[in-house]
Amino acid sequence: MVSQGPAASPTIAADTTVTGDVASSTAPPTPATAPPAPAATTPGWVLGATPLPKGPDGTPLVLPTPPALRDRRLTAPDRLPPPPEGAPYRSAAVPIDAVLAARMGSTHQPGCPVPLADLRHLTLSFWGFDGRPHTGELVVNAKVAADVQEVFGKLYAARFPLEEVRVVEPGDLTAEPTGDGNTSAAFVCRPIRGSTSTPSAHSSGLAIDINPFQNPYKKGASVLPELASAYLDRSPARPGMITRGDVVTRAFAEIGWGWGGAWTSSTDTMHFSANGR
Ligand SMILES: [Zn+2]
Repeated sequence: MVSQGPAASPTIAADTTVTGDVASSTAPPTPATAPPAPAATTPGWVLGATPLPKGPDGTPLVLPTPPALRDRRLTAPDRLPPPPEGAPYRSAAVPIDAVLAARMGSTHQPGCPVPLADLRHLTLSFWGFDGRPHTGELVVNAKVAADVQEVFGKLYAARFPLEEVRVVEPGDLTAEPTGDGNTSAAFVCRPIRGSTSTPSAHSSGLAIDINPFQNPYKKGASVLPELASAYLDRSPARPGMITRGDVVTRAFAEIGWGWGGAWTSSTDTMHFSANGR
Protein backbone atom coordinates (compact mmCIF):
# COMPACT_ATOMS: atom_id res chain seq x y z
CA MET A 1 0.00 0.00 0.00
CA VAL A 2 1.38 3.42 -0.85
CA SER A 3 -1.23 6.15 -0.85
CA GLN A 4 -4.13 7.63 -2.62
CA GLY A 5 -4.68 11.16 -3.69
CA PRO A 6 -4.62 13.60 -6.56
CA ALA A 7 -2.09 13.20 -9.33
CA ALA A 8 0.37 15.70 -10.68
CA SER A 9 1.92 16.12 -14.09
CA PRO A 10 4.91 13.89 -14.80
CA THR A 11 8.01 14.58 -16.85
CA ILE A 12 10.31 12.11 -18.54
CA ALA A 13 14.08 12.11 -18.42
CA ALA A 14 16.04 12.09 -21.63
CA ASP A 15 18.41 9.18 -22.16
CA THR A 16 17.37 5.57 -22.24
CA THR A 17 18.82 2.32 -21.06
CA VAL A 18 17.11 -1.02 -21.31
CA THR A 19 18.30 -4.45 -20.28
CA GLY A 20 17.19 -8.02 -20.62
CA ASP A 21 14.67 -9.10 -23.20
CA VAL A 22 12.60 -5.97 -22.85
CA ALA A 23 11.92 -4.10 -26.06
CA SER A 24 13.76 -0.80 -26.24
CA SER A 25 12.27 2.60 -26.63
CA THR A 26 14.71 4.83 -28.45
CA ALA A 27 12.40 7.81 -28.17
CA PRO A 28 10.96 8.17 -24.68
CA PRO A 29 7.58 9.85 -24.45
CA THR A 30 7.59 13.60 -24.76
CA PRO A 31 7.51 15.43 -21.42
CA ALA A 32 3.99 16.27 -20.44
CA THR A 33 3.66 19.98 -19.84
CA ALA A 34 -0.11 20.20 -19.55
CA PRO A 35 -1.64 20.81 -16.12
CA PRO A 36 -2.75 17.75 -14.19
CA ALA A 37 -5.65 16.01 -15.84
CA PRO A 38 -8.88 15.59 -13.92
CA ALA A 39 -9.44 12.38 -12.05
CA ALA A 40 -11.18 9.53 -13.78
CA THR A 41 -14.86 9.50 -13.08
CA THR A 42 -17.55 6.89 -13.14
CA PRO A 43 -21.29 7.50 -13.12
CA GLY A 44 -22.38 8.08 -9.58
CA TRP A 45 -18.94 8.70 -8.14
CA VAL A 46 -16.25 11.37 -8.57
CA LEU A 47 -12.84 10.04 -7.58
CA GLY A 48 -10.86 11.94 -4.97
CA ALA A 49 -13.71 14.34 -4.27
CA THR A 50 -15.06 13.15 -0.94
CA PRO A 51 -12.74 13.14 2.10
CA LEU A 52 -13.49 10.28 4.45
CA PRO A 53 -14.97 11.06 7.86
CA LYS A 54 -12.59 10.32 10.72
CA GLY A 55 -13.12 8.20 13.78
CA PRO A 56 -12.43 9.26 17.37
CA ASP A 57 -8.70 8.47 17.00
CA GLY A 58 -8.41 10.53 13.82
CA THR A 59 -8.19 7.50 11.54
CA PRO A 60 -10.26 7.71 8.35
CA LEU A 61 -13.28 5.45 8.63
CA VAL A 62 -13.68 2.30 6.57
CA LEU A 63 -16.99 2.72 4.75
CA PRO A 64 -18.95 0.45 2.39
CA THR A 65 -17.83 0.50 -1.23
CA PRO A 66 -19.98 2.88 -3.28
CA PRO A 67 -22.10 0.85 -5.74
CA ALA A 68 -20.38 2.53 -8.69
CA LEU A 69 -17.01 1.14 -7.56
CA ARG A 70 -18.00 -2.44 -6.72
CA ASP A 71 -16.91 -3.67 -10.14
CA ARG A 72 -14.42 -0.97 -10.93
CA ARG A 73 -13.06 -0.75 -14.48
CA LEU A 74 -11.75 2.80 -14.81
CA THR A 75 -9.01 4.31 -16.91
CA ALA A 76 -7.05 7.27 -15.59
CA PRO A 77 -6.46 10.14 -18.01
CA ASP A 78 -3.18 9.75 -19.91
CA ARG A 79 -0.37 11.87 -18.46
CA LEU A 80 2.21 10.43 -20.85
CA PRO A 81 1.61 9.75 -24.54
CA PRO A 82 0.15 6.26 -24.93
CA PRO A 83 1.83 3.76 -27.27
CA PRO A 84 0.27 3.41 -30.71
CA GLU A 85 -2.43 0.77 -31.07
CA GLY A 86 -0.79 -2.58 -31.69
CA ALA A 87 2.63 -1.40 -30.51
CA PRO A 88 4.80 -3.92 -28.67
CA TYR A 89 5.64 -3.41 -25.01
CA ARG A 90 8.11 -0.59 -24.52
CA SER A 91 10.02 0.37 -21.40
CA ALA A 92 12.95 2.51 -20.40
CA ALA A 93 15.01 3.01 -17.24
CA VAL A 94 16.96 6.17 -16.54
CA PRO A 95 18.57 7.79 -13.48
CA ILE A 96 16.54 10.23 -11.39
CA ASP A 97 17.17 13.68 -12.85
CA ALA A 98 16.69 17.03 -11.13
CA VAL A 99 13.20 17.48 -12.56
CA LEU A 100 11.99 14.15 -11.26
CA ALA A 101 13.76 14.67 -7.92
CA ALA A 102 11.80 17.90 -7.56
CA ARG A 103 8.56 16.08 -8.36
CA MET A 104 9.36 13.37 -5.82
CA GLY A 105 10.04 16.06 -3.22
CA SER A 106 9.48 14.86 0.32
CA THR A 107 8.75 11.29 -0.78
CA HIS A 108 12.56 11.01 -0.60
CA GLN A 109 14.41 12.58 2.32
CA PRO A 110 17.82 12.41 4.01
CA GLY A 111 17.85 9.27 6.11
CA CYS A 112 15.86 7.20 3.64
CA PRO A 113 17.44 3.76 3.12
CA VAL A 114 18.73 4.47 -0.40
CA PRO A 115 20.02 7.63 -2.08
CA LEU A 116 18.35 8.93 -5.23
CA ALA A 117 21.40 7.72 -7.15
CA ASP A 118 20.36 4.14 -6.37
CA LEU A 119 16.87 4.62 -7.84
CA ARG A 120 15.71 4.50 -11.45
CA HIS A 121 12.84 6.12 -13.29
CA LEU A 122 10.96 3.59 -15.38
CA THR A 123 8.53 4.37 -18.14
CA LEU A 124 6.58 1.39 -19.40
CA SER A 125 3.58 0.34 -21.42
CA PHE A 126 0.58 -0.98 -19.52
CA TRP A 127 -2.85 -2.21 -20.52
CA GLY A 128 -5.87 -0.20 -19.43
CA PHE A 129 -9.34 -1.23 -18.37
CA ASP A 130 -10.44 0.48 -21.59
CA GLY A 131 -8.71 -2.25 -23.60
CA ARG A 132 -6.04 0.15 -24.84
CA PRO A 133 -2.30 0.57 -24.23
CA HIS A 134 -1.08 3.39 -21.98
CA THR A 135 2.27 4.62 -20.68
CA GLY A 136 3.04 4.64 -16.97
CA GLU A 137 6.03 5.42 -14.82
CA LEU A 138 7.55 4.01 -11.64
CA VAL A 139 10.53 4.75 -9.43
CA VAL A 140 12.31 1.57 -8.34
CA ASN A 141 15.68 0.49 -7.01
CA ALA A 142 18.31 0.35 -9.76
CA LYS A 143 19.13 -3.27 -8.97
CA VAL A 144 15.59 -4.42 -9.76
CA ALA A 145 14.85 -2.05 -12.66
CA ALA A 146 15.37 -4.65 -15.40
CA ASP A 147 13.36 -7.25 -13.47
CA VAL A 148 10.45 -4.85 -13.03
CA GLN A 149 10.58 -3.99 -16.73
CA GLU A 150 10.22 -7.70 -17.46
CA VAL A 151 7.30 -8.11 -15.07
CA PHE A 152 5.35 -5.29 -16.66
CA GLY A 153 6.13 -6.74 -20.07
CA LYS A 154 4.40 -9.94 -18.98
CA LEU A 155 1.40 -8.05 -17.62
CA TYR A 156 1.17 -6.14 -20.90
CA ALA A 157 1.39 -9.29 -22.99
CA ALA A 158 -1.40 -10.81 -20.89
CA ARG A 159 -3.42 -7.58 -21.13
CA PHE A 160 -3.77 -7.51 -17.36
CA PRO A 161 -5.59 -4.19 -16.77
CA LEU A 162 -4.15 -1.42 -14.61
CA GLU A 163 -5.96 1.82 -13.82
CA GLU A 164 -2.96 4.11 -13.34
CA VAL A 165 0.81 3.60 -13.00
CA ARG A 166 2.75 6.59 -11.75
CA VAL A 167 5.26 8.13 -9.38
CA VAL A 168 4.17 9.00 -5.84
CA GLU A 169 4.39 12.73 -5.18
CA PRO A 170 4.17 14.78 -1.98
CA GLY A 171 0.59 15.80 -2.72
CA ASP A 172 -0.41 12.15 -2.51
CA LEU A 173 0.89 11.99 1.04
CA THR A 174 -0.71 15.21 2.26
CA ALA A 175 -4.10 14.88 0.54
CA GLU A 176 -7.14 14.25 2.70
CA PRO A 177 -7.79 10.50 2.37
CA THR A 178 -10.73 9.72 0.12
CA GLY A 179 -10.34 5.93 0.19
CA ASP A 180 -10.94 5.56 -3.54
CA GLY A 181 -7.41 5.68 -4.96
CA ASN A 182 -6.17 3.02 -7.35
CA THR A 183 -2.65 4.01 -8.35
CA SER A 184 -0.10 1.29 -8.98
CA ALA A 185 3.19 2.64 -7.61
CA ALA A 186 6.55 1.64 -6.17
CA PHE A 187 8.94 3.99 -4.36
CA VAL A 188 7.90 6.06 -1.38
CA CYS A 189 10.03 6.48 1.74
CA ARG A 190 7.81 5.60 4.70
CA PRO A 191 7.64 3.14 7.59
CA ILE A 192 5.77 -0.15 7.35
CA ARG A 193 2.17 -0.10 8.56
CA GLY A 194 1.93 -0.04 12.33
CA SER A 195 5.49 1.27 12.79
CA THR A 196 7.05 4.71 12.97
CA SER A 197 10.60 3.55 12.38
CA THR A 198 10.89 0.30 10.38
CA PRO A 199 11.18 1.33 6.73
CA SER A 200 8.86 -0.32 4.23
CA ALA A 201 10.38 -2.10 1.22
CA HIS A 202 8.78 0.75 -0.73
CA SER A 203 11.38 3.02 0.94
CA SER A 204 14.14 1.22 -0.98
CA GLY A 205 12.20 1.00 -4.23
CA LEU A 206 11.92 -2.73 -3.70
CA ALA A 207 8.13 -3.03 -3.50
CA ILE A 208 5.27 -2.35 -5.90
CA ASP A 209 1.54 -2.08 -5.26
CA ILE A 210 -0.76 -3.20 -8.08
CA ASN A 211 -4.34 -1.89 -8.46
CA PRO A 212 -4.80 -1.17 -4.72
CA PHE A 213 -8.56 -0.81 -4.97
CA GLN A 214 -9.09 -4.20 -6.57
CA ASN A 215 -6.47 -5.66 -4.23
CA PRO A 216 -6.91 -4.05 -0.81
CA TYR A 217 -4.86 -4.30 2.36
CA LYS A 218 -6.66 -5.83 5.34
CA LYS A 219 -5.67 -6.19 8.95
CA GLY A 220 -8.36 -6.61 11.56
CA ALA A 221 -10.99 -3.96 10.89
CA SER A 222 -8.52 -1.86 8.89
CA VAL A 223 -8.98 -1.77 5.11
CA LEU A 224 -6.91 0.27 2.65
CA PRO A 225 -8.11 1.90 0.46
CA GLU A 226 -10.92 2.53 2.94
CA LEU A 227 -13.70 2.22 0.36
CA ALA A 228 -12.42 -1.03 -1.18
CA SER A 229 -14.17 -3.51 1.13
CA ALA A 230 -16.18 -4.92 -1.80
CA TYR A 231 -12.89 -6.39 -3.00
CA LEU A 232 -12.17 -8.22 0.26
CA ASP A 233 -14.46 -10.84 -1.23
CA ARG A 234 -12.09 -12.45 -3.71
CA SER A 235 -14.69 -14.35 -5.64
CA PRO A 236 -15.89 -14.09 -8.24
CA ALA A 237 -12.68 -12.69 -9.71
CA ARG A 238 -13.21 -9.30 -11.35
CA PRO A 239 -10.86 -7.52 -13.78
CA GLY A 240 -7.75 -6.12 -12.13
CA MET A 241 -7.83 -8.50 -9.19
CA ILE A 242 -4.72 -10.51 -8.37
CA THR A 243 -5.25 -14.18 -7.62
CA ARG A 244 -2.88 -16.92 -6.59
CA GLY A 245 -1.15 -18.42 -9.62
CA ASP A 246 -2.27 -15.70 -12.03
CA VAL A 247 0.00 -13.81 -14.44
CA VAL A 248 0.80 -11.17 -11.82
CA THR A 249 1.84 -13.49 -9.00
CA ARG A 250 3.76 -15.69 -11.47
CA ALA A 251 5.60 -12.76 -13.05
CA PHE A 252 6.73 -11.44 -9.68
CA ALA A 253 7.58 -14.94 -8.41
CA GLU A 254 9.81 -15.39 -11.45
CA ILE A 255 11.96 -12.44 -10.31
CA GLY A 256 11.97 -13.77 -6.76
CA TRP A 257 9.52 -11.32 -5.22
CA GLY A 258 7.01 -12.25 -2.51
CA TRP A 259 3.30 -11.44 -2.49
CA GLY A 260 1.47 -9.76 0.39
CA GLY A 261 -1.62 -11.76 -0.55
CA ALA A 262 0.09 -14.79 0.96
CA TRP A 263 0.64 -13.20 4.37
CA THR A 264 -1.30 -14.40 7.40
CA SER A 265 -1.27 -11.70 10.13
CA SER A 266 -2.40 -9.14 7.58
CA THR A 267 -3.24 -9.46 3.90
CA ASP A 268 -1.77 -6.96 1.45
CA THR A 269 -3.05 -8.29 -1.85
CA MET A 270 -1.72 -5.32 -3.85
CA HIS A 271 1.83 -5.65 -2.52
CA PHE A 272 4.86 -7.37 -4.07
CA SER A 273 8.37 -6.99 -2.69
CA ALA A 274 11.90 -8.19 -3.22
CA ASN A 275 12.34 -9.07 0.46
CA GLY A 276 8.93 -10.69 0.87
CA ARG A 277 7.86 -8.10 3.46
ZN1 LIG B 1 2.93 -2.06 -0.74
